[in-house]
Amino acid sequence: MELFDTHCHLDFSVFDTDRKFLIEKSSENGINNILLPGIKKEDWRILRMHVALNKSLHAALGLHPMFIDEHTEQHLHDLEMALNLPPVVAVGEIGLDFYDKSLDREKQEIFFRAQLKLAKAKRFPVILHVRKAHDEVIKHLGLLQFEEGGIVHAFNGSLQHAKSYISKGFKLGFGGTMTYARSVKIRELVKTVPLESIVLETDAPDMVPSSSSSKRNTPVHLLDNFRVLCQLREESAEEIARVTTHNAKKVLRID
Ligand code: ZN
Repeated sequence: MELFDTHCHLDFSVFDTDRKFLIEKSSENGINNILLPGIKKEDWRILRMHVALNKSLHAALGLHPMFIDEHTEQHLHDLEMALNLPPVVAVGEIGLDFYDKSLDREKQEIFFRAQLKLAKAKRFPVILHVRKAHDEVIKHLGLLQFEEGGIVHAFNGSLQHAKSYISKGFKLGFGGTMTYARSVKIRELVKTVPLESIVLETDAPDMVPSSSSSKRNTPVHLLDNFRVLCQLREESAEEIARVTTHNAKKVLRID
C-alpha cells in the first residue's frame, strides 16, 4: 500500500534532528512521496536542498499569504527564475487568508494573482492556502482562466466551494482536522465528495491528529489521517490508498 503526503513542511528547522529518520520511517510505512510547500523566498534554497537529496521529496515554491508582510516585488521575479530550475512540481503555497484580519488583503490579492499568472504561464499546478476567502479565490481562478489545477490544502470550504474547485481540476486536501469528532462539517464533506477529488496531507509540524499525544506533527502521522479517512468512507482501505495516491500524482504530474 502506497500513500502520498501532499503537504508537509519537512524543511522546517524543528525537523533538523530527525528528518532522515522520519523520511525512512515514512517510507517503511508506504509513504513514498512527500510534497514540501514553500513559504517565503529565504526558505526555498534549503527546501530545494532537501528535495535534491531524497527522491521521496517533491518541491513547491511560492510566497505564502500569511507572510505577506515579508514578500517584495523582487521575490516575484525571483520566483519566476526559481521555477525554471528543476526539480519543482508546483507553485505554492499561495492563496488568500482573510481569517487573520491583520494581513493586508490588497497586497495578498496582488501577490496571489501574480503567482497564479506565473503558474499559468509556466504550466504548473498550484498549492492553495485559503481561509475565509474561497469565493475570492474561485473568482480569481476564473478571471485568470487558470486551468492547471492543483490542491486546495486543508480544505475548509462548503460543498458548493468543493464542487467549484473540482470542476476547475483541483483536488481537496484533508488532514488532521478530520480526525477530531468536533470537525462535524469537514467530516461530513469528506464522506460526500468523490474519492477521485481527495488527497491526504499532514501539514506537519502543525495539525497534530487527535490520536497523537505529541505536540509536533510528522509525516508518519499520515497513517492516522488515512485510518480516519477509511473510517469515514465506504471504500476499502486498499482502494482509498490507491485512489488518493493516484490523485496526488496525477494533479502534481509525478509518475
Ligand atoms: Zn502549509
